[in-house]
Amino acid sequence: MKVVIGAGPAGMMAAIAAAEAGKRVLLIEKNEKPGRKLAITGKGRCNVTNARDVSEFFDNIPTNPSFLYSALYGFTNADLMRFFEDNGVPLKVERGERVFPCSDRAYDIVDALKNRLRALGVRLVRDEAAAIETAGGAVVAVRGKNGLYPCDGAVIATGGLSYAQTGSTGDGYRFAKALGHGVTPPRPSLVPIVTREDVSALQGLSLKNCALTVTDRKGAAIYKNQGEMLFTHYGLSGPLVLTASGHIGAEPSGFHLSIDLKPALDADKLDERILRDFSSEKNKDFANSLGALLPAKLIPYIVERSEIPPRAKVNSVTREQRRRLASLLKNLDFTAEAYRPINEAIITSGGVNVREINPSTMESRLVKGLFFAGEVIDCDAYTGGYNLQIAFSTGHLAGMNV
Ligand SMILES: Cc1cc2nc3c(=O)[nH]c(=O)nc-3n(C[C@H](O)[C@H](O)[C@H](O)COP(=O)(O)OP(=O)(O)OC[C@H]3O[C@@H](n4cnc5c(N)ncnc54)[C@H](O)[C@@H]3O)c2cc1C
Repeated sequence: MKVVIGAGPAGMMAAIAAAEAGKRVLLIEKNEKPGRKLAITGKGRCNVTNARDVSEFFDNIPTNPSFLYSALYGFTNADLMRFFEDNGVPLKVERGERVFPCSDRAYDIVDALKNRLRALGVRLVRDEAAAIETAGGAVVAVRGKNGLYPCDGAVIATGGLSYAQTGSTGDGYRFAKALGHGVTPPRPSLVPIVTREDVSALQGLSLKNCALTVTDRKGAAIYKNQGEMLFTHYGLSGPLVLTASGHIGAEPSGFHLSIDLKPALDADKLDERILRDFSSEKNKDFANSLGALLPAKLIPYIVERSEIPPRAKVNSVTREQRRRLASLLKNLDFTAEAYRPINEAIITSGGVNVREINPSTMESRLVKGLFFAGEVIDCDAYTGGYNLQIAFSTGHLAGMNV
């Protein structure tokens, strides 16, 4: 008997691959339903993988990419897409080669996995695994809160530490440590950023098409991209910022995030545009003159940071002041103070040390019959469907070998 702990994407795929290889499989999940996190991925639409060539995946995996060669080439994005199409979930490719179910329903992805598990006769048990028992350096059982599950192979697919309400509470790190494995301390990645500046007045404001440049403490640009972001009561969030956090690394304090509110206009064009807006209504107060240029919620904040008196008539605004305003709109700068807590992170960076896992099988180098899959391993990727592909590929490899 093989036991898989955790019915997330990694665990479900591991159970499917093991059952397809003819093994009897028990899948233990502590939640009432499998795939709770999977069901909320991609804002409920599930960005299940990325359609780029697999060779391009490694540039999107900042932590231990080479460990994943066998897994990602053994069960590729094309294999994963075929799996879902064959199991009744047509897929579509969107901007950035992101792959989603045509239905835009993450539940369809979860259901396809559940149906395949059922068809293969995998037994799904609701229990919380508490420990893995070994004898003579090999796995002999998984101890659950409700029972003992004897087995000669176990896959730990318990996920990371983020969004703990979905079941990912870091249990796998505990199991791995108890069996002698090193665990790189978990930390948040793809996570909102707390800023030194008070932006609470902008809470809820979403910018649809802005550019973001992140510079490190020495002033070197480390990330630049265009897209969507969001102001929150503590700082910055939204896709651009979450992705940026993956590039920043462990310690964000002192990094600068500069927002270009008008990426389509260079500084001169923007100045011309402002001049045009100003000259159409010369006697307006400055504070009332930006309605055509900026979202209403942002105007008081920009007026304050521009240091141009809000009641100044636009025809009294000097060329120098106007240039400063344009520069502010092209370079609205914030300083990072910290990340939000790991529970608010999309993924957990850190995890079971990859040097102690055989990359060709996902088996522990320390304990026979012990395998790892998914986010519990010290690997993580940027946004774009790469994290789920890692979960499915490592799950598949572990399942084939357990
Ligand atoms: C809001 C959000 C959106 C995301 N969107 C995307 C996206 O669109 N695309 C993408 O690629 N990635 C996305 N991710 C990341 C992706 O969801 C994870 O990388 C992926 O779910 C990891 O899979 P996993 O199977 O390793 O772990 P998990 O999905 O965390 O599953 C682990 C499972 O193990 C169970 N478990 C834990 N401990 C025990 C125990 N002791 N006993 C029994 N069961 C246990 C848990 O209940 C859970 O069901 C998103 C993450 C979040 C939080």
